[in-house]
Amino acid sequence: MSDPVTCPICTMPEPLTTADGFECATCGHEWLGELSDGLDDVRDANGNLLATGDDVIVIKELKLDGKSGGVKSGTKVKGIRLVPGDHPIDGKINGRGILIKAEFVRKA
Ligand SMILES: [Zn+2]
Repeated sequence: MSDPVTCPICTMPEPLTTADGFECATCGHEWLGELSDGLDDVRDANGNLLATGDDVIVIKELKLDGKSGGVKSGTKVKGIRLVPGDHPIDGKINGRGILIKAEFVRKA
């Protein structure tokens, strides 16, 4: 791993190393060293942890890359999958695969 380690809470770089991970000198958050993809800490708009296989409800109308249509608020997405990136929720709506930001959904 060559990426610089940053605190997942406050994003400050250069955390202190501990026996099994890191501790942030700025906010005091401690986390394990293996957690590089952030997929075990994807949270919905209410701060609930999301996991692959969860059902979620879209809480904001989403536009899909300029195409007509989009996703209406209140749409349920069943059996999501978590993927790396800033749109960590991979789901299907009406047979179409889309990626959604975690802050635009809540757990169903
Ligand atoms: Zn921190």
